[in-house]
Amino acid sequence: MADSDLDNSPAVRRLADWDDETLGSLAEEYDTPLYVTDLDRVTENYLRFSAAFPEAHVMYAAKAHTGKSVLESLLSVGADIECAAWGELQRSIDAGADPNTLQYTAVNPPDHDLDYAVDLADNAPGLTITIGATDTLDRLQERGYDGRIAIRINPGIGTGHHEKVATGNDAKFGIPYEQVPEVADRVREEFDLVGIHSHAGSGVLTDDLEDHCRAIERVGEMARRVGPLEFVDIGGGFGVPYHEDEPPLDLEKTAEMVREAIGEIEAQLKLEPGRYIVADAGLILTTVNTIKETPSATVVGVDASLATLIRPAMFGSYHPMLNVTAPEREAHPVTVGGPVCTSADVFATDRPIARPERRDVLAIGNAGSYGYELASQFHSQPRPAEVALEDGEARVVRRRETLDDVTRVEQ
Ligand SMILES: *Cc1c(COP(=O)(O)O)cnc(C)c1O
Repeated sequence: MADSDLDNSPAVRRLADWDDETLGSLAEEYDTPLYVTDLDRVTENYLRFSAAFPEAHVMYAAKAHTGKSVLESLLSVGADIECAAWGELQRSIDAGADPNTLQYTAVNPPDHDLDYAVDLADNAPGLTITIGATDTLDRLQERGYDGRIAIRINPGIGTGHHEKVATGNDAKFGIPYEQVPEVADRVREEFDLVGIHSHAGSGVLTDDLEDHCRAIERVGEMARRVGPLEFVDIGGGFGVPYHEDEPPLDLEKTAEMVREAIGEIEAQLKLEPGRYIVADAGLILTTVNTIKETPSATVVGVDASLATLIRPAMFGSYHPMLNVTAPEREAHPVTVGGPVCTSADVFATDRPIARPERRDVLAIGNAGSYGYELASQFHSQPRPAEVALEDGEARVVRRRETLDDVTRVEQ
């Protein structure tokens, strides 16, 4: 993509910016619930983000959406991939990634994950393993590994949209700040110390940037204490606006604040956004099955559920919704819920939506990150299909599961 195209790349794609007619025909052709991912928007987001940090190396945090088509698209525009589990490593390689470029963040790593990463590194000495506990070093040595290591720092400051995603002050993540120099000495002696890493939280928007940058300041200080290093990785966590009236993250300002916070470092800056790259490139289409008037609410029952998108149930997250079939109808406050037997299975409460009728198709926006990735087969529901859009063409990139897929592993 040329720079001039990037100038036209909006900082956010709102649900209302998608073409209703296209969405309506996708629902008709491929059935619902349906994940829709616009791969052109994925690469555009990556390139726009990278352009704001020209001095840095921007990786993609695979866990936000590990679909092969997404990984292939990002690899094709030069992204490297950050993985946090062996499956993500394997899928990145299947999508064409050079294992020498992968970074594996080991969070309480199971033996299997370490075995896999060490095997991979045997033939790919460029692979980097990020450790967050010193006994991970012992476990790597037991496997004969003495290669590239980055140290994940716990900066003691967490940020983000929800306490469950603030990782920077959670003892589970990273080496406690004051222990880092000693650990760095050990890593230098016994391995190849290439970088330090920190990921303070997720969903950071302009208002949270100050806190986020306090964590980054600490990372910069540590880089000066234990440097020189090949890289300093400040993780991901860059947010997208879920509410229609929320402004997007100002990337220029973010880049400026990050640079100022990190200060002079003798190392390359690395970032690893996940959500920012894929969130607004994806949505879910769902069909209205039931409408019920009750004294307290108009309840709209849809065929998607918390098994399709768990963020509202898990984090109380807001996702924009639109009636794709009849956007012109007058808005009416409705409660939208799915077929799962818990009161957490609700996408919206008292939300004004163009008055839904049975068989209408609704779109749930910003579902490109942590959507399919966190989907389950709860209630023995096969997981939905995913359709990718690229150059105006639609194609199925994950078929709809069948009931056989649900029972396949039973003995
Ligand atoms: C989850 C995660 C990311 C990506 O977070 P986003 O909020 O999706 O940008 C990056 N790095 C690490 C280590 C993570 O765990």
